[in-house]
Amino acid sequence: MIAGEVCAMPELPEVETMVRGLRSALSGRRVRRLEVLDPFLLQGCTAGELSRRGRGATVVAVTRRGKWVVLELGARRGILVIQPRMTGGFWLVEPQRPEHIRLAFHLDQPRATVWYCDTRRLGKVCWFADAHAAAQAFARAHGPDALEIGRDQLAERLARTARGIKPALMDQKVLAGIGNIYADEVLFHARIHPERPASSLAPAELDRLHRAIGEILTTAIALEGSSFDAGYRTVLGLEGGFLAQNAVYGRKDLPCRTCERPILKTKIAGLVGRPTYYCPQCQSRH
Ligand SMILES: [Zn+2]
Repeated sequence: MIAGEVCAMPELPEVETMVRGLRSALSGRRVRRLEVLDPFLLQGCTAGELSRRGRGATVVAVTRRGKWVVLELGARRGILVIQPRMTGGFWLVEPQRPEHIRLAFHLDQPRATVWYCDTRRLGKVCWFADAHAAAQAFARAHGPDALEIGRDQLAERLARTARGIKPALMDQKVLAGIGNIYADEVLFHARIHPERPASSLAPAELDRLHRAIGEILTTAIALEGSSFDAGYRTVLGLEGGFLAQNAVYGRKDLPCRTCERPILKTKIAGLVGRPTYYCPQCQSRH
C-alpha cells in the first residue's frame, strides 16, 4: 500500500455519489463496445480480454464497496471493479479533459457513452470472475464499510490499536471509506481530539463517534461530496457541496461553528503530508 493511499480522495461520499449517478446511466444497459484507452490501469486482465468481456454485456448492477465502484456484468461476464483512488472519476457528459479518458463504455439503444477519466493514473481497473472473488479481494484489504459498521464492531476494532484515532479511522483495514476530510469532520462532531489513542475512547465517546460517522457521511452524500481544486466532480462535472458548509476541514483560523475559537491546522503522527483541522476547545485532548 502506498503512503498516500489511506487518505486518498475521493472518499466514501464521493464514490457513493459517482455510483448513484452511474447507476441511472449504466444499470440495465447493454454495452455495445468497451473501449480501453489506457491498459496501464488494468489488473487481472489485458485490454483485449476486458474489451471482449464487455462487448455486448448487460450491466446488471452498479454498487459500491468502500471506495470501490463495482459493475456486475450479466451472462457470467464477471465483475468489473474500478478504484478511482486519488484522481479518477466518471463522466456522463463530455469530459473536460479528453486526454485523461482511460475507459469508455459505449452503450446501445439509445446510444450513449460513459467515460472513466483518471488525471494522474493512480486508480485501478480490475476484473473478477464472480461476485465471490471480488468480495474476497475486498475483504483481504478492507474492514467493514463505514456506513454499515456497527457500534460494537467499531469499538472492538479501535480497541486493538493505540494509534491516534484519526489515522485509525483512515485505515481502510479498520473500516472502509473514510479519508482525511471526513475523519476531521467526524472527530469534530464527536468532540474527540484527533491524537487521542484509538484504544483509549470511553463508551460514551464511541457512541458519539459511531453516530457522527453515519451522520457526516449521510450528509456529505446528500450534498454530493466534497470538491476542491481540480479534483473530484460529480458524473455531470459539477462540484460537490459539502465543503461549503462543513465544520473544520480547510477552515484554519476561522471561528469554530460551535464555540467561535479559531480552528487549528496541524500535522499529526502517522499521516504524511496530510493536514489535520480541529477545534482546541470542542475537541480537548483530555
Ligand atoms: Zn469549538
